[in-house]
Amino acid sequence: MKPIQEIYPLLNTPRNVVVTMHQKPDPDAMGSALALAGVLAQLGHEVTVISPTNWPDFLKWMPGSKAVIDFEATREKANIALEKAEWLFCLDFNALYRTKHMAAKLAELNCIKILIDHHEQPETEAFDYGISLTAKSSTSEMVYDFIKASGNEHLINEEVAACLYAGIIGDTGSFRFPATSPDVHEMVAVLKRKGLKHAIIHENLYDNFLEDRLRFIGHVLLHRMEIFYEYNAALISIPKSDLLKFNIRTGDTEGLVNYPLTIQGIKLAGLVIDRDEERKWSFRSKGNVDVNTFARKYFNGGGHFNASGGRSSDSLQTTMQLFKKAIKENASQLQ
Ligand code: 5GP
Ligand code: MN
Repeated sequence: MKPIQEIYPLLNTPRNVVVTMHQKPDPDAMGSALALAGVLAQLGHEVTVISPTNWPDFLKWMPGSKAVIDFEATREKANIALEKAEWLFCLDFNALYRTKHMAAKLAELNCIKILIDHHEQPETEAFDYGISLTAKSSTSEMVYDFIKASGNEHLINEEVAACLYAGIIGDTGSFRFPATSPDVHEMVAVLKRKGLKHAIIHENLYDNFLEDRLRFIGHVLLHRMEIFYEYNAALISIPKSDLLKFNIRTGDTEGLVNYPLTIQGIKLAGLVIDRDEERKWSFRSKGNVDVNTFARKYFNGGGHFNASGGRSSDSLQTTMQLFKKAIKENASQLQ
């Protein structure tokens, strides 16, 4: 993978460009992709944004989101754009498997692949150019740096600023997490001067759910959460029947994994959801508990030191047992 700076001089020649992100995009994945697409379009590129899967309703206010192609839902349309692409920007993921059913297609494309990402252990051989900085708060911060360093800061308008800001607050937990550096705050100051209306973005992301979701959270915290004080760990496990009963939709379970960490002393939280084809895990931790390694070792996943994900093809019961075994094996780190 060559340094991303090498493409700056090439940005002024219009090309067919696809921007993509990880499956089930979160605010950072969608925000960074739409912000980059917004700037590239102003530079004269023909830009298509493709998501590997559908995305939550709370991202649908984002400027440009209506034009995003869902690979799973409209594969032919996505394939046409991918086959035409001269450049493929891969944002907020660093290993092709994170694009789910799109991974095989991406692997066979001969276009130039460019990575911008902040997750651990990048698959650098899969990309031609790129930048991978695990200390960065978010991919949106990195896209901001890319726009600035390539001499295009003047193209950050209110729409681009809104997308970048959504990504920043998503991945920093609204400026709480340790990766929230002075650079992040300085970037937000610049965005504010470019017309960013931050309060409405918080409302769009966090105050725009249906009643069902809140009732579901109440139900889950009461009936589906186990606390293991001996290991300072907690587990929330959600059977498929709960998802059906409360009409749970993509995005409704976002943030649920954080609740157990609000309990005094709890350092690691696991959330497992029984999805149709797999059991999907999310992990969050505080301080020196490394959930990237934890997700890699036990649950075919990865991510960041304090936030990661994984999956299992076992039954819900079996994968819950593995979690319990795993926290015992990691007792020394957790206690
Ligand atoms: P979430 O729990 O929100 O799905 O994921 C938490 C963080 O870990 C996000 O930054 C997400 O991109 C990352 N992540 C989730 N699943 C995986 C995975 O299977 N592999 C890797 N490398 N990262 C993941
Ligand atoms: Mn991210």
